[in-house]
Amino acid sequence: MRAVTFQAPGEVRVDDVAEPAIERPDDAVVRIEASGVCGSDLHIYHGRTPVEQGFTIGHEFVGTVIAAGPEVQRAAVGDRVLGCFHTACGTCRACLRGDYHRCLHGRTFGHGSFLGNLPGAQAEQVLVPRANMTLRRVPEGMADEVALFAGDVMGTGCHAVWQAGMRAGDTAAVLGLGPVGLCAVQAARASGATEVFAIDTVAERLEMARRFGATPVHLTGEDPKRVVRAATDGAGVDVAVDAVGGVDPLTLAISLARDAGTVSVVGVHSSSGEVPLGLTWLKGITITTGLANVIAHVDRVLAMISAGLLDPAPLVTHRMSLDDAPEAYELFDRREALKVVLSP
Ligand code: NAD
Ligand code: ZN
Ligand code: ZN
Repeated sequence: MRAVTFQAPGEVRVDDVAEPAIERPDDAVVRIEASGVCGSDLHIYHGRTPVEQGFTIGHEFVGTVIAAGPEVQRAAVGDRVLGCFHTACGTCRACLRGDYHRCLHGRTFGHGSFLGNLPGAQAEQVLVPRANMTLRRVPEGMADEVALFAGDVMGTGCHAVWQAGMRAGDTAAVLGLGPVGLCAVQAARASGATEVFAIDTVAERLEMARRFGATPVHLTGEDPKRVVRAATDGAGVDVAVDAVGGVDPLTLAISLARDAGTVSVVGVHSSSGEVPLGLTWLKGITITTGLANVIAHVDRVLAMISAGLLDPAPLVTHRMSLDDAPEAYELFDRREALKVVLSP
């Protein structure tokens, strides 16, 4: 079957690879109808996340179950399903606390041996371990390219806001308006944020945030600190979301948060760096970080999409063939696309 493989920094390729087969009783095999290209794939593309040459990448998918082991109860052959971006066992000490994103046996699709050696979903088929946990049926009437968001990007946007304990009436800032940041904007609005400052440099992304009810702020053309202070009576925002990753956005998020506010980091940080710890301490800021607990959120996210409270549809800017994956990566890397959906 055809699959998108990582070759070298800046190079992905459509290769012929072996079709997956059931290995354990709770595995399923899904025929992919749509897969997404994510900001996390760009970390692989640039060599920041180590993945073996020839490994199949991609971790956002919707498709149809074509095989299911005897212990798969929550999906059956023929069901249209969406996947969460990682697996969880459901029985380890982390899963028993509900911290599925820290499952001791968790594996992330399409991230090489670094994250569990589980081939990815930018392919014609994907093997889905722990299918009872990893898969959900696509709600009736929901388009593939919308359902695709529930198992990763919208789940992460919601996680950013919910892990920060946002309450109705709060204000927020979202740094980085890729798909994750734009979903965080929607999640903040849906969770009752009265004002959301949306910060980036890309004009189309700032405009999309404005359509979602945020106040767009140009990172370099304006002074985000001054804009936020002026609009919040000098206080800063209750919740500042880093949807970029890296020292600069984290430092800005810390400076935009109010005293005793929360900085929520969902952007990937893959190395150490200096943050203004003294200022953080003095302001009494809480910082929350890490992978999003999408398995814990996916049912609520699907319900909110079905109810029209969240709407990822406008984020899909490109629909391309799996064969055009190299071009899709280039487009997304140049920030000329928001969400590219690949179909075999
Ligand atoms: P993206 O690359 O499309 O978006 C990043 C955006 O940040 C771009 O629009 C860019 O212009 C902007 N940006 C860059 N530097 C900035 C700065 N200093 N201040 C403000 N904006 C800046 O990626 P995405 O798909 O939206 O993903 C965003 C991040 O979230 C990535 O690091 C991705 O790996 C991560 N992610 C994390 C999880 C999780 O589980 N925590 C899940 C999905 C994605
Ligand atoms: Zn992703
Ligand atoms: Zn577990």
